[in-house]
Amino acid sequence: MTVPLASTPNYIGRFAPTPSGPLHMGSLVAAVGSWLDARAVGGRWLLRLEDIDPPRCSPGAADQIQRQLETFGLTWDGPIRYQSERNDAYQAALDRLIAAGMAYPCGCSRREWQHEGYYPGWCRQGPRHPERVQAWRLRTDRGIQPVTWQDRLFGHQCLDPTRQGDVVIKRKEGLWAYQLAVVVDDADQNVTDIVRGFDLLDNTPWQRQLQVALGYSEPRYLHLPLILGDDGQKLSKQNLATAIPDDGELARPLLHQALQLLDQRPPRTLRLAPVADQLAHACRNWSPDSMSATSGRAQD
Ligand code: GLU
Repeated sequence: MTVPLASTPNYIGRFAPTPSGPLHMGSLVAAVGSWLDARAVGGRWLLRLEDIDPPRCSPGAADQIQRQLETFGLTWDGPIRYQSERNDAYQAALDRLIAAGMAYPCGCSRREWQHEGYYPGWCRQGPRHPERVQAWRLRTDRGIQPVTWQDRLFGHQCLDPTRQGDVVIKRKEGLWAYQLAVVVDDADQNVTDIVRGFDLLDNTPWQRQLQVALGYSEPRYLHLPLILGDDGQKLSKQNLATAIPDDGELARPLLHQALQLLDQRPPRTLRLAPVADQLAHACRNWSPDSMSATSGRAQD
């Protein structure tokens, strides 16, 4: 089912990579899909670097990602947001969740609960291990449930976050967790449309609970096709992890391939055309309805 966008003059989209390394084919497809979805309706497209986890962020990756996006013609609007500068905003959100009884401290180690499959909420009534350093978890049993939303590609979704577990929103090392940071920034930046990889679809229930608990409005969601290899199997991180170049000539066929993976049927004659020409064509012809939930590997 499709949610019409033509009547959406204030579209704000975003690309929110974690700068743990250069963009690879999987993240390029997400960037191209979200850029086209925004630009096709004259919307804004923001770049946010989700650098909340210093040990995972590799030096120079943030700059390299910017160069890669420029090489592929994926221009963004306004200043880049860095999540590493947003501590106060995340703390304020956590304080509100604590006040609302939606967050609690927990010192359990993964080893202790992993046989359950997900963290079952042992510390909801008070920390089991008060002597340990505490993380903060979301109380999924107090959030909206089941969580339902309409994904523009995957259709009606209905998931019960209590069965996914009380996710960590602040880590015991004091680092902010993705679930909280992404929700706070999407709301703060007035993002209307979240277009991102399929791998994040099952994170959405926690994010919807957090949005409701914090009084934020609901963005539209479009999770992009799961990319399958020639053998019909999900492409592994390894396959998708090939770094893409930041050289203009080499970028051209890769952009063509990314458009194919988004089921946009780019004309073969444009395969080696400058990225600006390929994007202009793809933007005029952007058709999210042409996407199917799984995408085969590009043909050429
Ligand atoms: N930072 C996340 C990632 O690189 C993506 C966040 C999002 O699009 O919601 O996987």
